[in-house]
Amino acid sequence: MEEVAAERSNLGGVRHILLVLSGKGGVGKSTISTELALSLRHSGKKVGILDVDLCGPSIPRMFKVQDSDVHQCDAGWVPVFVDQEKSISLMSIGFLLEKPDDAVVWRGPKKNALIKQFVADVAWGELDFLIVDTPPGTSDEHISTVEALRPYKPLGAILVTTPQAVSVGDVRRELTFCKKTGLRVLGIVENMSGFVCPHCSECTNIFSKGGGEELAKHAGVPFLGSVPLDPQLSQSLEEGRDFIQEFPKSSAFPALT
Ligand code: ADP
Repeated sequence: MEEVAAERSNLGGVRHILLVLSGKGGVGKSTISTELALSLRHSGKKVGILDVDLCGPSIPRMFKVQDSDVHQCDAGWVPVFVDQEKSISLMSIGFLLEKPDDAVVWRGPKKNALIKQFVADVAWGELDFLIVDTPPGTSDEHISTVEALRPYKPLGAILVTTPQAVSVGDVRRELTFCKKTGLRVLGIVENMSGFVCPHCSECTNIFSKGGGEELAKHAGVPFLGSVPLDPQLSQSLEEGRDFIQEFPKSSAFPALT
């Protein structure tokens, strides 16, 4: 039954689905989702990002398409394309709000209904990867997302943390969430891992370092790499530019690609 549903749905042309999770907000989950999409595009893949962070959608801004509208076609909602080649497509509640800064003050059931609609009704077409950017924590929205995606057999989840113990502690809860919902953990990324001086390019550890790597070892999941705090990265994101193309020599580059 599940196979049939998956084939007929709008996700039938999507090869791999992966989720990006974090225990806290502001640790760089949307940043990692964005850079991962750009990196995959550079390796010739077609990528979609589904932004289910309904109360804090930042994906449209990171690609500088926050003023775009979503249109309807026979198959459902047409995602917003960030380039003419249509190599990256996006869907976010940000495109559905009248003003980008409007607050979404919804109770759980309404949020869950929109997530289900996002999963069922976006006409992604053929994609190599669909990256699902989630809200921080392990809320109702996460359960709805995982349940709605289950028939399409997601590849797994990437967990993002900063090096500090508090954030790492929250990732432990994400690990438990993945275990309980049967979502494979693809690995942990440690973001904001040291600061790269824009003048001399030296990396200084402002916070502690290595918490993400230690946790990965302890939990027996892959450690995917450390991304330092890099002012050029935040500037690229602010301006909707392609950091990977612009700064291939950045020390953030290896982990992001
Ligand atoms: P989250 O999705 O976890 O809430 P964001 O990805 O929106 O977090 O990141 C929060 C802010 O931190 C953004 O302004 C982003 O540009 C910045 N940021 C994230 N990671 C880095 C980094 N490695 N270097 C510089 N700025 C970063």
